[in-house]
Amino acid sequence: MADKRDYYEVLGVDKTAGDKELKNSFRSLARKYHPDRSDDPDAENKFKEIQEAYAVLSDPEKRQTYDRFGHNPPGGSPFGGFGGGSFNINLEDILGGDFFSSFFGGGSRRSRNRGNDVIVRFSVNLESVYQGTSEELEIELPTSCEDCDGTGAEDGDIISCSNCGGQGKIRVRQQVGPFVQDVIRDCPNCSGMGQIIKTKCKTCGGSGQQVKETKLRFNVPKGAETGTRLRMRGKGEPALRGRGENGDLFIELEVEQHMWFERSGADLIMSLPLQYSELVLGTTIKLPHIDGSELKIVVPKMTNSGETIEIRGKGLPRTRGSGRGDVVVLVKLQMPDKISKSELKQLQAERVALSDDEIQEIIKSDAEERRQ
Ligand SMILES: [Zn+2]
Ligand SMILES: [Zn+2]
Repeated sequence: MADKRDYYEVLGVDKTAGDKELKNSFRSLARKYHPDRSDDPDAENKFKEIQEAYAVLSDPEKRQTYDRFGHNPPGGSPFGGFGGGSFNINLEDILGGDFFSSFFGGGSRRSRNRGNDVIVRFSVNLESVYQGTSEELEIELPTSCEDCDGTGAEDGDIISCSNCGGQGKIRVRQQVGPFVQDVIRDCPNCSGMGQIIKTKCKTCGGSGQQVKETKLRFNVPKGAETGTRLRMRGKGEPALRGRGENGDLFIELEVEQHMWFERSGADLIMSLPLQYSELVLGTTIKLPHIDGSELKIVVPKMTNSGETIEIRGKGLPRTRGSGRGDVVVLVKLQMPDKISKSELKQLQAERVALSDDEIQEIIKSDAEERRQ
């Protein structure tokens, strides 16, 4: 048997805690780990642990025994805990009516019956992101069936569920380990809707939904990135049987790759391969820029391969702050694809052999320059 945690530790209270403190702590933990509510994968075990600790500590006699002997009292477990007895904790009393009433058409019913969100992916090019654009898109989206108003029933032919009396929920007495507790479940007869469709709508077959061609208009914000989501409230899937609010529609942007620019935040980075003669003599390169203007890259003479040239304010709009990023050009030496025999001879004739010391000196000064 695995080591059991101390009951006081489970409830996060000290050994001197009074009834009220125990109850408060149990209440907040039970709300957190109630298996109907919690997303924690281990919620059921945690919930059982909390219940057991509370069942023992809230009973003065059991608490006294536990304080003296811990989990292993002489003569077996008098707690009824994992020893085999049964605790009947009335969760509704302790957790309060509101915890359960939210299952019964209180405030959260609407959100439980909310339609699903829909995500639509949309590609834009870098040009659109540079300026920001308005877009229009026609796609098929689930909408509420017009013939039955989303109810799924022909001519409103719906009856109240007799199994749950129209509540949609039923109370079930359940044995959880050694404990008995009342739990509220969706009625299996009506799937929690409280109503049953007698005659299904012919248009939607009872689903209450119809797929319809829908026109969406939206703006691509300046500087948007891949993964940017635009939310259109209430444009998602309708709620089940039209009883609740629609989900939201998200347009997730994907920014297409540019022919030569890479993005780094608001900066646009490109590499520019040049021949040896252009690096030595200097040159000016003109490229069409994404805003439609001409991007002029001035390469000074004696530029080294690996140096960068920044063109300020020609990048993308900054999403935070104002202004634009820069274009950063990384200059590279482009080796020729082939070389003729006469050129090779000429190079060999011009070649000046350097000593080891001279090579080390060049490496050293290059490293120092980069460090600055
Ligand atoms: Zn029912
Ligand atoms: Zn219909």
